[in-house]
Amino acid sequence: MDRTTATAEALRLEELRSFGVLDSAAEQAYDDVVKLASFICDTPIALISLIDEDRQWFKARVGMNAMETPRGIAFCAHAITEPHALMEVPDALDDSRFANNPLVTGEEGVRFYAGAPLLTPSGAALGTVCVIDRVPRKLTEAQAEALKALSRQVVQLLALRRANAELELLSRAHTLRQRELEETQRQLKGINEELSEQTLTDALTTLKNRRAFDRLLANEYARALRTRSPLALLMVDVDHFKAYNDQYGHLAGDQALQAVAAAIKSQARAYDHVARYGGEEFAVILPDTQVADTRAVAERVRLAVQNLQGLHRPVTVSVGAAMAEAKTDPVDLVSRADQALYQAKQNGRNRLHVTL
Ligand code: GH3
Ligand code: MG
Ligand code: MG
Repeated sequence: MDRTTATAEALRLEELRSFGVLDSAAEQAYDDVVKLASFICDTPIALISLIDEDRQWFKARVGMNAMETPRGIAFCAHAITEPHALMEVPDALDDSRFANNPLVTGEEGVRFYAGAPLLTPSGAALGTVCVIDRVPRKLTEAQAEALKALSRQVVQLLALRRANAELELLSRAHTLRQRELEETQRQLKGINEELSEQTLTDALTTLKNRRAFDRLLANEYARALRTRSPLALLMVDVDHFKAYNDQYGHLAGDQALQAVAAAIKSQARAYDHVARYGGEEFAVILPDTQVADTRAVAERVRLAVQNLQGLHRPVTVSVGAAMAEAKTDPVDLVSRADQALYQAKQNGRNRLHVTL
């Protein structure tokens, strides 16, 4: 083999392997082709033969038991050397290339061979669709044409088969990537949850945030029940704060909220918990506190806000207070403090209302 032929053969083999068909299971479409070939050409044997490096392997066959033969004795190996032409051997005994071939001299007793190369768009032949008989003969022109047509069909089938396999691979890769993405998202969600778990502080006011408040209230509530001590809750809401925002802008509003937060905090005792409940609403948990002291703290808070200096205009808060009851829960306590706050607003704002 010279160098050009060797390169061409290497490329041909590479292309053949790209179809991934060698040693694949039988498939109806290919079996049908050899049935048709045998029927149309009226031969006992028909094959789809693929010429591998050292063997010819049959993708489909009728009238032949072997799955493959060595390439050295393959008629088809000769047929593919002229990829565009149908190779016909009317009588193998009369042909010097095949007269001593074991397929001819042996049990198979091959006499007649016709093979139409499986020609790919690149110009290489992967193998053939061939018909074989044990008596010398010749194909009619129509049979030869049919055999060529069948070989073209097989090339189409192989191309489709490969395209399908590629699509399946892509789809599998896509599914895999999708799963990886979902897993990453799950992990991110976990990390996020962990992070927000860790953040219990409101960024604007540096007070406890709503999450911290919920936890603290649950704890204090349980402790109050356990120790049979009183527990109070203040809900503190800035009066007409929307107007303040609208008039002086959101940034000024933020600064006012920081000032209000500091004022509330300044009036709380060391063991009280001051939280930003949301928006312009604050909550103060007063552990171990009776109604009288609750009123006192609330009133101090109200005055501290009212007396704030340096704002665009004075700001006031309304305060709702409620006492924990043994027979209910934190949700009920918040709800009753809220109702008290609503009542304080109804009563004219800048005031305290206590529900007992
Ligand atoms: P009321 O006396 O009935 O409580 O009236 P209000 O205007 O305070 O109540 P409303 O609920 O109508 O409006 C609350 C306003 O608080 C609206 C919103 O823009 C403002 N607000 C809430 N959170 C923030 C914040 O973080 N920064 C600023 N600047 N404004 C906020
Ligand atoms: Mg308000
Ligand atoms: Mg409000």
